[in-house]
Amino acid sequence: MKRTVFLDRDGTLNREVGYVRNPAALEVLPGSRAALQRLHDAGYRIVVVTNQAGIARGLYGQHDLAAIHARLQAEVGGLVDAFLHCPHHPEGGHGYGHGCACRKPGAGLLLQARELLGCEWPGSAIVGDSARDLLMARELPLQKVLVHSGKPVEGERELLRAANLAPDHEAADLTAAVDWLLRR
Ligand SMILES: [Mg+2]
Ligand SMILES: [Zn+2]
Repeated sequence: MKRTVFLDRDGTLNREVGYVRNPAALEVLPGSRAALQRLHDAGYRIVVVTNQAGIARGLYGQHDLAAIHARLQAEVGGLVDAFLHCPHHPEGGHGYGHGCACRKPGAGLLLQARELLGCEWPGSAIVGDSARDLLMARELPLQKVLVHSGKPVEGERELLRAANLAPDHEAADLTAAVDWLLRR
């Protein structure tokens, strides 16, 4: 068993730009690599969990996504243990235009991580800039950290309030989130 920090991708590790369609459009946020290094050194497994409905919408394909993740992995020093993504969207197509259990706020990607990697929940955490990142873990005993480095935080707080879920912590960015996680 290994404690895991689950990380949203867009707005958490890299700049939120709508859809990242190719590796050149990926802008890793300052501090991401150092933050991952600290988590790794503290013994955490690092798993990225990301909605990529751009695949269902035909904006890019699985091969493009693999290239984007290869670039992200290179820019953070190879410290990501796994990338798990949902390619689906009910209004999309391209073979992925249907409902699924893995699109956040569903918990499917976390359950995949448990199945594929043996992740367990105690001592683990989810960090993301969207309400849906925290909501995916609402039934699970993960620490839930909302970061302010992506989507406008007021709207995300409102969505969390409406869903009756309070973050365990809010942080300016991944660096501050890791500060908090490692202090606990
Ligand atoms: Mg995000
Ligand atoms: Zn899915």
